[in-house]
Amino acid sequence: MSDSSSAASVRTEDRSTPADRQLGPGAHALMRQNFGNIGNAQFQHIAAREVAAPHPPQVVEVAPRTFLIQPGMANVALFETDEGLLLVDAGCAGDGPALLQAVRHISQRPLHTVVFTHGHVDHAFGLWAFLEAGERPRVVAHENLLGHYARYAKTAGLNAAINGQRPGANGRSWPSAPEDFVVPDITFRDSLELRIGGERFVVRHAKGETDDAAWVWAPQRRVIAAGDLVVGYLPNAGNPRKVQRYAEEWADAAEEMAALDADCVITGHGDCVRGSDAIRDELLTMAACLRHIVRHALDGLNAGLRPDEIVQSLAVPEHLTAHPRLQPGYDRPEFICRNVIRRYGGWWDGHAAHLLPAPVAAQAREICQLAGGVTALANRARELADSDLQLACHLAEWAYLAEPQSEAAQTSYVEVFGRRREAEPSLMGKLAFSEPHRRVAAERTKSGR
Ligand SMILES: [Zn+2]
Repeated sequence: MSDSSSAASVRTEDRSTPADRQLGPGAHALMRQNFGNIGNAQFQHIAAREVAAPHPPQVVEVAPRTFLIQPGMANVALFETDEGLLLVDAGCAGDGPALLQAVRHISQRPLHTVVFTHGHVDHAFGLWAFLEAGERPRVVAHENLLGHYARYAKTAGLNAAINGQRPGANGRSWPSAPEDFVVPDITFRDSLELRIGGERFVVRHAKGETDDAAWVWAPQRRVIAAGDLVVGYLPNAGNPRKVQRYAEEWADAAEEMAALDADCVITGHGDCVRGSDAIRDELLTMAACLRHIVRHALDGLNAGLRPDEIVQSLAVPEHLTAHPRLQPGYDRPEFICRNVIRRYGGWWDGHAAHLLPAPVAAQAREICQLAGGVTALANRARELADSDLQLACHLAEWAYLAEPQSEAAQTSYVEVFGRRREAEPSLMGKLAFSEPHRRVAAERTKSGR
């Protein structure tokens, strides 16, 4: 029957994407769930103007003359007034042309004002398409956005490496040249009121994922454009590889937004939140969850505990972790806790041997020798993975670090961390647990295997 043969062909077809192959099955679906309309090529070239989003932008009218536009991985809010358009964010560099087209499909009024919710590469870099088309909006951002740009220019290589970015046609893989950045015409410190078409829009500063965050409140429409302060998953307040995040101030901003009794929150990524009860529920649960983690970290630091003791004793109450829009699909409570510890403490982890440690390979070789050799340690890692995957990872890593060329060590390292990666809910965790796969592949290439 044709049905069963087509079912068979679906089963045998390899539908995995590069992200799935690197991060394990389902990784691309997780990315799309977190970030929306994004393809692998766009993800790997978010700083390049030449690589556009693979799908037409999604547009939702969330209130009269108020639109959520999703040109690529980030959301954009559009407020139409009689005087012109207010745009909140502009997407990735590659989103620019699709965003311009989507906006012009909605309205022919001039682009009056653009507010950047922060200087991240997926929010503040698509405006070039409007400027090249002759639009001359005033650009509004928090005063720290300029520092954010300066940091991007200073750490372009680091950011490109962390985010897996490839160079675009101009040779750059991360914004670093003056022409990459749109400099705001108006900056503000705490709060700014805009009047466009006789209507009041309030721009508020907060700290959250970044120190330059801004969000927009349109009181007449009862709509908030929140940028990445609201994203539909556990806040990215603990990213293991990135600069300081601000969990406490993030909670402040969530509570401030919750008090406004808005009808809709246009989020930085993914679906918007509608209805004042749902908004209050999500924002207040998010704030309570962040505050719980911050309090736990500070209590531990004040009690003289080490970072590992603080993180291992973290237990977020279930009523705060069960919310469907606060799941750890990107970040984890433990990482947020680490970020709070880093903010208030020093870099030393409190273990004396780690202050000025011996090279990790030397430590690993000694452990291997005591264990009866690299194969014994590698095999024990694979065996232990059935009962204690976390502990097995340490053994597998020691075996690999002791002898990176060993076939047994390589196999165990890839296998054990492959299982860890699959079991890990967060994208940040999956990325870190993919590192062994990448290292072993590089080692095998080096040795011609
Ligand atoms: Zn974002």
